[in-house]
Amino acid sequence: LSPQSDSSTFEGIPAIRKVAGSANGPRVEGKVVIITGANSILGIGRASTHLFAESGARALYVCDFDDKNLDAHRREIGSLYPTVDVHVRQFDAADEEAVKAVVDDALAKYGRLDIFFANAGIVGPVAPFTGFEKSEFMKIMDTNVASVFLAAKYAAPAMTKTSPEKPGASGSIIGTASVAGLRSNAGTTPYAASKAAVVSLAQTIAYQLTGTGVRMNSICPGLIETGMTAPTFEVARARGTEKKIGQLNPMKRAGVADEVARVALFLGSDEASYVNGQAWAVDGGLSAGHPFVP
Ligand code: NAD
Repeated sequence: LSPQSDSSTFEGIPAIRKVAGSANGPRVEGKVVIITGANSILGIGRASTHLFAESGARALYVCDFDDKNLDAHRREIGSLYPTVDVHVRQFDAADEEAVKAVVDDALAKYGRLDIFFANAGIVGPVAPFTGFEKSEFMKIMDTNVASVFLAAKYAAPAMTKTSPEKPGASGSIIGTASVAGLRSNAGTTPYAASKAAVVSLAQTIAYQLTGTGVRMNSICPGLIETGMTAPTFEVARARGTEKKIGQLNPMKRAGVADEVARVALFLGSDEASYVNGQAWAVDGGLSAGHPFVP
């Protein structure tokens, strides 16, 4: 399978690149879903809002710090998937009050919360670790780690609440980590440390949620072409070295956001009912071993 390009756009927003997957993927019928970092138009966020909507979500909270195109994004999902309630929220995913408020809103409106995909993240500059100010380090930790901690802190109790709408306690919390959190990632030390912390949060919280019916996992993408990595791809394209980007990857290419969204959908769905506390690498095999280049 290779990513397909689609030339259609919505109100000037470019189309999502997709892989040709099965039409019978996991379903999230009737579920209430919160996604942060959801307005990354070229990234994992928007690929996920589309996939969760397409897969039967009843309500979708599209949350992001960046409100550029946020309303167009809402209209786009509304026009493609008219049965889904789409709510947009502009907030910092590391703002405790804002995270609590969006969870409370889901409970007030729907009496349930099923999936919290804590996907917001920043990478920070690529630099030797001695070049980072403590404030820069803390900003990356706050955005990437505190956001996932807060998502779990408020989502887990909401998911264990039962209602006539949702008689049994259940739910899925997913944090976006990175292969940088599994292996050394020279150049982005605070980012790598923050993503290792996300892997750890999913492991430890999954155990603390023992017996509740709520699961927590992390996803560890490899190099995916998104807003975050666009500068890397732009430089490579300008230099004509784009092919080199995927050279050491067993799949011989970078990934597309839709390929990560598909794993988030699976982990969020009941298909993953016995998957808990795990770090799911979505990296084409990059983290599986040391590449041997004869
Ligand atoms: P992206 O930059 O396109 O998307 C990140 C989104 O998070 C943006 O929309 C941004 O506005 C939002 N965001 C940033 N800080 C926020 C905050 N404090 N509060 C709310 N929203 C905030 O990049 P992406 O690649 O789609 O990133 C999604 C996640 O995937 C991130 O956690 C990132 O670290 C992770 N990741 C990406 C790659 C990759 O190669 N692209 C690899 C590994 C992990």
